Amino acid sequence: MNIGFIGLGIMGRPMALNLINAGHSVWVHARRPAMMTPLTDAGATACNTSADVASNADIIFICVSDTQDVEQVILGDEGILKTTKKDSIVVDMSTISPSATRKLATQLTEHNVHMLDAPVSGGEQGAIDGALSIMVGGEKEIFDRVLPLFEVMGKNIVHIGDNGAGQVTKACNQVLIGQTIAAIGEAYILASASGVDPAKVRQALLGGFAGSRALESHGQRMLDRNFKPGFKASLHHKDMRIVIEAAHELGIALPGAAMVTQYLNAVVGNGKGENDSISILELQEQLSGITVNKEKS
Ligand code: NAP
Repeated sequence: MNIGFIGLGIMGRPMALNLINAGHSVWVHARRPAMMTPLTDAGATACNTSADVASNADIIFICVSDTQDVEQVILGDEGILKTTKKDSIVVDMSTISPSATRKLATQLTEHNVHMLDAPVSGGEQGAIDGALSIMVGGEKEIFDRVLPLFEVMGKNIVHIGDNGAGQVTKACNQVLIGQTIAAIGEAYILASASGVDPAKVRQALLGGFAGSRALESHGQRMLDRNFKPGFKASLHHKDMRIVIEAAHELGIALPGAAMVTQYLNAVVGNGKGENDSISILELQEQLSGITVNKEKS
């Protein structure tokens, strides 16, 4: 079976590399040819366009930035649909809009092409280690066909439901992570303003119901004032836009998500979009005139 991989950034590159290292024949495309070199060095075949990938591959993975990028890769002048073979499978692993995903799946079905949405969490390290969480929407039978390849890239792989369900799950993930970061920031400010060591607070809370992977990992980096990404604030900002658009389309209230979005608007507006999304803490500190772990700043 021939595999295609389009989008070779922080996430796509290690994911494609793991597929090559597992012994698969992989056709790759990136806008900048230099991005393909580590993959061709490992045995992949470079393609000039997404259409070239689709003319060679039976299963085509996409991992690009945003909704319009996936649309361009699939529907564009040099896109997948120009050459894709009947019964091939397009697997979009980017984080994009659920409603746009459903439309793309319908358009692909009209051309006898299957689609899965399969966004991920676990970050660059998870991608390198082949340990991503993969949340999948689309037909179960198609999921079963792709599962052995997902297992090369991830560990916690869940078929959630129909097309779009994977992207809805990823949006839920970002709602939870964003609000947890904001909650940790508030807890640290309360502790610091009260003259209580936030590191000790974290240590105590990790063992109880307030304990979480976010408190463990993000909470420590917030104490260290280590704002290096990790997960860029600009990407979390993009993901919260997807959440807020979905809330608008559905007519539902997500006030906590709206608050996180406002924080991320300001992080990006302050020119800190390339920092980790835990940079929300710096804004919370400005509101109260408190610096958490001042000695680390
Ligand atoms: P990235 O490093 O910015 O890589 C994105 C890649 O997509 C770049 O190589 C870019 O090419 C390519 N691309 C963008 N638009 C394109 C287009 N229209 N046509 C062809 N190629 C295009 O981003 P990333 O961190 O790998 O993230 C990729 C996706 O995974 C995003 O949706 C992100 O939200 C999601 N994600 C990221 C993380 C993380 O920790 N980084 C975790 C979970 C999910 P150029 O280099 O030419 O711009």
